[in-house]
Amino acid sequence: MKSISTGNNAPQINDDENFQHSLQEAVNQRRNFAIISHPDAGKTTLTEKLLLYGGAIQQAGAVKARGEQRKVTSDWMELEKQRGISITSTVLQFEYKDITVNLLDTPGHQDFSEDTYRTLAAADNAVMLEDAAKGLEPQTRKLFEVCRLRNIPIFTFINKMDRPGQEPLSLLDEIESELNLSTFAVNWPIGSGDLFRGVIQRDSRDVILFARGERGKQSIERRLKINDPKLSEFVEKELLEKAIEELDLLEAAGSALDLELVREGELTPVFFGSAMTNFGVRPFLDSFLDMAQGPVARNTTDGPVDPMRETFTGFVFKLQANMDPRHRDRVAFVRVCSGRFQKDMTVSHARSGKNIRLSRPQKIFAQDRSVVEDAYPGDVIGLNNPGMFAIGDTLYTGKHVEYEGIPCFSPEIFCWLRNPNPSAFKNFRKGVNELREEGAVQILYDTDQSKRDPILAAVGQLQLEVVQHRLENEYSVETIVDPMGYQVARWVKGGWTSLEQIGRIFNCKTVQDSWQRPVLLFKNQWNLNQLEQDHPSLELSAVAPVVS
Ligand code: GDP
Repeated sequence: MKSISTGNNAPQINDDENFQHSLQEAVNQRRNFAIISHPDAGKTTLTEKLLLYGGAIQQAGAVKARGEQRKVTSDWMELEKQRGISITSTVLQFEYKDITVNLLDTPGHQDFSEDTYRTLAAADNAVMLEDAAKGLEPQTRKLFEVCRLRNIPIFTFINKMDRPGQEPLSLLDEIESELNLSTFAVNWPIGSGDLFRGVIQRDSRDVILFARGERGKQSIERRLKINDPKLSEFVEKELLEKAIEELDLLEAAGSALDLELVREGELTPVFFGSAMTNFGVRPFLDSFLDMAQGPVARNTTDGPVDPMRETFTGFVFKLQANMDPRHRDRVAFVRVCSGRFQKDMTVSHARSGKNIRLSRPQKIFAQDRSVVEDAYPGDVIGLNNPGMFAIGDTLYTGKHVEYEGIPCFSPEIFCWLRNPNPSAFKNFRKGVNELREEGAVQILYDTDQSKRDPILAAVGQLQLEVVQHRLENEYSVETIVDPMGYQVARWVKGGWTSLEQIGRIFNCKTVQDSWQRPVLLFKNQWNLNQLEQDHPSLELSAVAPVVS
């Protein structure tokens, strides 16, 4: 492509070489990541501290305070407010040194939903945050599995070292054995809890002394050489010796910090610190940005597309309705994958084949919006969505491309959704369909046509509440939710034919998804294991096959 038509004020770029050069620069400068953690591990605290180092307009505290700052509230947000949690996930962008960092914010509540998973589909890197006392926790494990699907690099931050925690060696061991992920400790803690004295940097063997950062201020680390006699003023001899001994053990065990393996998602660099006291956050950010991968090539139905492809491509990974009640709008969040996105650009919508002019693209920081002039691979933009976009949709200019869809994730909660009022049937059906299309929840159906009630299949309880709340507020239908008592779902590879081949199966209910594909529901894992043992040839998948 020779030229890109720009918005009103943006400079015209007519020159291939200049364009390639500025695109390359933008790509080189971008890092994008999401934090995966269990509630209470300190994600909000770490995010605040990271923003403190970013030369962004945001101040520490902004993340926690966003509930209060919010000016627009919708019915849906009413629900968020009542529950005092954040359902929405948005992107926080900040500049650090020469890097534009996009932090994809995932909801932290334990009733998390598919949004959390989908956000990971747009991330190039993940930071796995652990509480040093608790180690790996359920939600972290689940999110890790999603990262594994795409082999994205994982950086581990072990938090709350200022509190008594587990032995650092056993924390590494847990990651290695339970996640099957090799570890490389970048720093090593000296003591923990009241006896936490700091960390030894593995490469230089310098000691960074622990100090509680002043609230809201960037901290300045005090470093001493490991053989500096002054060290004994700050660190007890036995503590230092124990840390050195452990570090020597790690060295002897031998794995090196192999960036290739990090990039392949096989090895995680591990950092110890304390987000609350702002200890270890800046060294973490420095190393993390050094090692993290920039925007990578992403798979389409015709093979991978490089971020340096000169024409714009991107995909929708999240839809959100009614962010602004005055407009009853829907926002589609698009991850830019290649080329340059510009305001007022006309793009093709791969699924419908239509052209759309994108005149009001937005960058969304928490709930504040500003209009975007341009965006590059790794960035996320919010588009007003007049009902046209669905999760996984590709937008592009130039030659046709279509990104591989975003998989539906294995639901764990199944309920009948009942509409007790026959006169509201039309609205009920419309609401259920629209919420399904938007990806608010997965919908399954009984194979018995006479049972017309849809089945809500969710990964978190909160999704059910959101669906009921929205059906009532947006479609004026009051519904009843009836739990079904199943906990595990499996899609059948090979569809109905494979299922028919094995004949009658016990202790499981066969239902179908919206594409009439068979799904098996089990009361527990044990029943699933039983079926797998009885029918080893039957191929089952926890993740719904992608519909393109
Ligand atoms: P989130 O649920 O993961 O977002 O966790 P928060 O950031 O809200 O933190 C949960 C609790 O842990 C809060 O009370 C924090 O003050 C506390 N916390 C976070 N980081 C640290 C830390 O490094 N040390 C200690 N002692 N507490 C922390």
